[in-house]
Amino acid sequence: MPSGKVHDWVTLGTAFMAIPLSGMYLPPETRPLAWLAIASYTFSGIWLSSDLDVRSSAYRRWGPLRYLWLPYQKLVPHRSWISHGWAVGPLLRVAYLLGMMMLLWLALSWGLRQVGIAIHADPHSWLMRFTDWTLTYRAEVWAIVFGLVAGGTAHSLLDWLSTRFKRLF
Ligand SMILES: [Zn+2]
Repeated sequence: MPSGKVHDWVTLGTAFMAIPLSGMYLPPETRPLAWLAIASYTFSGIWLSSDLDVRSSAYRRWGPLRYLWLPYQKLVPHRSWISHGWAVGPLLRVAYLLGMMMLLWLALSWGLRQVGIAIHADPHSWLMRFTDWTLTYRAEVWAIVFGLVAGGTAHSLLDWLSTRFKRLF
């Protein structure tokens, strides 16, 4: 399996190469969507890495928030299809992260309420707003999803290539 550094460099290298290519080959009106997809691809490879299923450099990159990924590591076997599956992996991590952030926010607002500080936390209205947003910005959402999936695919492809290579030599 390639190290976290190799994964990071491949993600950053391909993302930087894709920027001028999108400028050369895409019509001007679609370029912002391509850049959004590239940003999402980079985020997917660097922050939402498939190797969050193990105590990797990607896991440590989250700093104090890395503990959010501990249940994920307990639940998901390393390099299984759940973390390394080409579309399932990154999309499940986004859903997992959103779920964990919501739990964290609810716990925080509950804690604050216990000491007499009331903050407005209504997950139902967030969900409605999120749905509205995804329906209004459909093309952007698809660009983000495409980038997320591509980031996971690049990771799995590199893992696969490295295993093949090691078997050959
Ligand atoms: Zn991996």
